[in-house]
Amino acid sequence: MKVLVIGTGYVGLVTGSCLSDVGVDVHCIDVDEAKINGLKKGILPIYEPGLEDIVHRNYEKGRLHFSASLQDNIDGAHAIFIAVGTPSGDDGSADIKYVLAVAEEIGRHLKSYAVIITKSTVPVGASEKIKAVINAAIQKRGEVVPFDVAANPEFLKEGAAVKDFMSPDRIVVGTDSPQAKEVIETLYKPFLLNGFRMIHMDIASAEMTKYAANAMLATRISFMNDIANLCELVGANINYVRAGIGSDPRIGKKFLYAGVGYGGSCFPKDVKALIKVGEDHGYPLRLLQAVEVINDNQKRMIFNKISYHFDHQLRDKVFAIWGLSFKPDTDDIREAPSLILIEQLLAAGAKVRVHDPVAMEEAKKRLGEMVTWCADVYETAEGADAIVLITEWREFRLPDWGKLKKTMKRAVMFDGRNIYDGIQLHKAGFLYFGIGV
Ligand code: NAD
Repeated sequence: MKVLVIGTGYVGLVTGSCLSDVGVDVHCIDVDEAKINGLKKGILPIYEPGLEDIVHRNYEKGRLHFSASLQDNIDGAHAIFIAVGTPSGDDGSADIKYVLAVAEEIGRHLKSYAVIITKSTVPVGASEKIKAVINAAIQKRGEVVPFDVAANPEFLKEGAAVKDFMSPDRIVVGTDSPQAKEVIETLYKPFLLNGFRMIHMDIASAEMTKYAANAMLATRISFMNDIANLCELVGANINYVRAGIGSDPRIGKKFLYAGVGYGGSCFPKDVKALIKVGEDHGYPLRLLQAVEVINDNQKRMIFNKISYHFDHQLRDKVFAIWGLSFKPDTDDIREAPSLILIEQLLAAGAKVRVHDPVAMEEAKKRLGEMVTWCADVYETAEGADAIVLITEWREFRLPDWGKLKKTMKRAVMFDGRNIYDGIQLHKAGFLYFGIGV
């Protein structure tokens, strides 16, 4: 089978390379020529565990191709995945202009039947717009070319994207065409040999499922952060509370961690977009409005703790920031809580020393010379008044506290992810502050 994947970001590159790994002839297309030229040389534009190996292997075998031209590669494609960005518009709604631009291009060049599958996160109604735009472009050519559309929202987690694609919990497919359904089932079957977890539904429900999933996960995070803040005020410990409620199977253990708020390219924009859909339909989503407010406050909470501890005297104080990416195992810094904290610290006149195992290159594009870039956690701590853990990378979990303390000005730890045991840190001579503990 021949497949086109339009957009070679986190979703497109993972989709394309994993499909090629099961033998599909995949052509990954992106308007960003620098990205395409890099990929042809084996340079990946993103960090994702396991991805480099799959890309290199399949590119060398000739099953995975990269190009900046949709027109040159579309002939004979059975399926075309759209995986371009859908950022927040000025009013918070999902801006689908890139998706529609791809649809227009498909309409201009499609010559034979293909299924157009939307992987980008798009609001209800977008697939109908995609269909209309493709149809209009085909009609403009004075031709008749059959095609179908399907909504196939992506649920991969950055940092575990390859694993999630290769062994998905479920695959949601929204289409009203039996032929499209068959093409999609054929493509995904190799990933579902251990039990078929494909859920078929209408297009609108598939589009809504993605937003509802992200909104639910964001809600759990904001709920726990809210309870954590209250724990601090009443003298309870969120870590015990989490263990106590997570053991109830109706609640479950996952996504119950208090911290510095959610970030990344999905939750913030998707929560915003769903709130806007509610407003547009005269149905304000009060719960999600609160989720967003709580998260915005939470991203600032750690700065407030730091500032309070230092009597609001932060000028020339030195802070060691551990972790920049919005979560571990990714170089994605979009909407990362680290950026807000760094901005606040710098505005207060503090000095910032940072380390992240993979996101420093990406972060340098944003922060430049404003911070000191360090090779490891020990270098960040030299002369520091406090350490602030923002991203719970595995390599940060068990540092040598004695070695850190020796070079620090003051032994203070602000643990933005509650990964350390406060009692152990006290024993090591540190002042310890967590979230809700
Ligand atoms: P990304 O920004 O990493 O990649 C998008 C790519 O599309 C870019 O390389 C860009 O150059 C390219 N592009 C834009 N317009 C194009 C065009 N006309 N033709 C060809 N290429 C074009 O984005 P992403 O993180 O992969 O997200 C893509 C979509 O998937 C979004 O809607 C997002 O909400 C959704 N999604 C993302 C994730 C995630 O974890 N990142 C998970 C699930 C769903």
